[in-house]
Formats: sequence, C-alpha cells, structure tokens
Amino acid sequence: MQLYSTKNKKNLVTLKEAVMKGLPDDNGLFMPKNILPLPDFFFKDLPKMSFVEIAQAVVTHLIGDDIPPTALNQLVEEAFNFPVPLIQIDDKMAVLELFHGPSLAFKDFGARFMARLMGFFNQVEKERLIILVATSGDTGGAVASGFYKTPGIEVVILYPSGKVSPLQEKQLTTLGHNITALEIDGTFDDCQAIVKTAFLDKALNQKLRLSSANSINIARLIPQSLYYFEAYKQLQIANNNLPVVFSVPSGNFGNLTAGILAKQMGLPIEHMIAATNINDIVPLYLKTGRFEPKISIRTISNAMDVGNPSNFARLKDFYQKEQCHTCDMMGQDIKGYAFNDDKTKEAVKFIYDRFQYIMDPHGAVGYLALKEYQQVYPETMGVILETAHPSKFIEDVENILGNKITVPERLARLADEPKSAISMSTNYKDFKEWICNHNF
Ligand SMILES: *Cc1c(COP(=O)(O)O)cnc(C)c1O
Repeated sequence: MQLYSTKNKKNLVTLKEAVMKGLPDDNGLFMPKNILPLPDFFFKDLPKMSFVEIAQAVVTHLIGDDIPPTALNQLVEEAFNFPVPLIQIDDKMAVLELFHGPSLAFKDFGARFMARLMGFFNQVEKERLIILVATSGDTGGAVASGFYKTPGIEVVILYPSGKVSPLQEKQLTTLGHNITALEIDGTFDDCQAIVKTAFLDKALNQKLRLSSANSINIARLIPQSLYYFEAYKQLQIANNNLPVVFSVPSGNFGNLTAGILAKQMGLPIEHMIAATNINDIVPLYLKTGRFEPKISIRTISNAMDVGNPSNFARLKDFYQKEQCHTCDMMGQDIKGYAFNDDKTKEAVKFIYDRFQYIMDPHGAVGYLALKEYQQVYPETMGVILETAHPSKFIEDVENILGNKITVPERLARLADEPKSAISMSTNYKDFKEWICNHNF
C-alpha cells in the first residue's frame, strides 16, 4: 500500500512509514494512493460473513501485502473481539452500537487496530518504542486499553489532575504492565505542552524512541470504515432494501471520512449525514462553501466540541480527485445539520419515551440530523452511529431522563480497582528527568 501527503501527492510512503510517523513532515495528512472498489463476490458473500471476516477481507483489500496474510488476519481478529449490533428502532431507522469495546466508545476500533499494527511494525526494532499521549479524558482510555500488553511498546499517558471524571481516571490508571499514567498538576494544555516539548527535544529523541498515538494516524481511519459494511450486511439480512444513509455524530470527522472510504470501496451509501452540535464548521461549509474554523464551544456532546476539524483536509482531498470544479461533489455525498444542547436533550428524552432506547448525547445529535434529513429524503433507511455508551455521560443522561441508568459491568468494576499514577508538576524538566531515569 502506498500513501501520499494531502500537501504533496508526489511524496509516497509505505504503510509502515505512515503508521509509525503519524503525520507527514509537511503537516499534511496521509491518504491511501489507490482506493479500489471491492470485487463483486465480496458483496455477494457479505450476508454470510462475520464481522471479523468482513474486516479481514476489507483490510486485506486496502493494505495489500504490506503484512503477511496470516499475521494480518490474526491482528484483525484480536483487535475486533467485541460485537457490533445494529438495533432497528423503527422501519426507517436503526442504531449501530459502536460502544461494545473496552472503553465503551467507537475510538476502540481505531486504537486497538493502530496498537497492533504498530506492534507488528515494531517487531524488527531492537529498542522499545515509547508512545506519549496527553489526554483530557476520553482518548487516553481507548489508547491505554488498545496498547495494553503490546510487546515492545510502552505507553505514557499524561492527564490533568482532578480534571477527568473518576471512571475515566480509573481507565487510565488501573491497567499497569506497559501503561504508565502521569497525573499532572495542571490543565490538559499543560499536558499537551509537555508532550510537544518532548517530541521537539533532540537530546531526548536520541536517547529514547518516541512516538505518538495521534488521532489522525491513518491506522485509526482504516478500521473505522469496517463497521459501515457490517451495518449494511445486517440490513440486507433483515431484508431491508431501501437506499442506506449513515448519520455520523462528528467532531474531527474521522468517523465520517472513514464512511467515505467505505463508499469508495464500493459500499452503496446514498448519503453521509454530518451531524454536529453548535460547533457547526462543516455543516456551514456545506451550505456556504467557506471553511471557517472557530474557537470550540463547550456542549453536552463534548467529544464533538471541535472548532477546526482535523480530517477536513482528507475530505477535501477525496473530492478534489473527482476533477469536477463546477459542481459541488462533496455536497452531493454529504448533508450537514447542527443542533444545540436544548434540542439534544429533548432528543435524548424523546428517543427514550418513543422507542425505549437510551441514547447518549452524541448519538442524539445523530438522531436529530437523520430526522431532518428524512423530511427531504423519506424513502431511505437511516443508520445512526451510536458512538458511546450512555453511561459515559451518566450525569447528563440521568438528569435528562430523570432515571438511573446502569453502568456496564466492565466499567463499573473499575471503580474498585486501585489507582496507580505518578504525580508530577507541569515543569518539563521534571518530566524529562523522570522519563530518562524510568526503568521501562
Ligand atoms: C471522538 C468522538 C466523536 C467524534 O468523532 P470524530 O471522528 O472526531 O468526528 C463522537 N462521539 C464520541 C462519543 C466520540 O468519542
């Protein structure tokens, strides 16, 4: 597989280089050079295939022979060891539950696949690789559990003391083994500043092999295209033959971009729906043609509070290929809608009253967008991506519903596990001294 940078298409790299580097030197984003449609027999066999079999076929199609087939199949099987159920809530709407992984959010798909891919590519290296991650809560949990016990890789997670939820903190601090949590006496920005300084510190990089688990690593995008095929399969089995649309609660637009990737591999998707909270940069772009990043605004669907969506460069790149300057190719594929917190809360309540389904605030934004879309396109089957389990946002959801909700066993269990974290100041010197002397 070859990849180019969105800033310079002539500069081709291998999958290994793209995954291990994360970002090209020119600050673009890595993109696959060839995205070919899957063969007809794949779509014929689809209804008989398990999710792991679908994932193996699609990943092999895209990646080719960069990884030997047996190793690739095993890696995929280990990464996706949890179910991806599609729950039909009425005759034109279904919910794809992407929260059955260890951190209860869809980011598990990307993190678990990236961790195993990095682990595979790292096998030939003698020295261990140290992944540095700053987290404001959510991403850290998915990365920590994704890399847990990956041979040859250590993960150091920096989180702001007292500023992540108690259960999020447990997700970062209870694993042990190759996962080390640093509790920083400061803000998320302080954590991020330390990580950035470390990557720029030449002396440190000569001493240790450092890498990031960047959210825009191509290894996180590829696996997110897989569950679109799974949803389509489940609809086929249910004998639902309406044109399929996906409503994607979006922040950095990785998930939606992965849907476009699935479409380019031949999945018949009628439209993608970009659903956002009031951080509506992309819906506005689709309306006006102007991309205007803003400072992000806090909402109850906070994993989507993004004022400058990082994957927009990839979306633009996809549609530039079409060589069509007079027509709006992106607007033909993607429809955008944005909603405020009041509407989101009303939707969480409505979905519960009407369908007895508990939706988290992110999924509720997806529901609202689909509903608005289907007023214009009623003859469609809409799939809402439910990106997180409602118990991850337990306070808001319980307040809206006026009921208690249950926390899944695998998360509830964490509350009793002992926390293990190293307290540290915001001073880079302290971090450097620690990491240079730590016995990994
Ligand atoms: C990260 C996240 C999103 C946004 O996904 P993008 O790929 O950044 O658009 C939506 N919902 C939840 C729960 C998330 O954690």
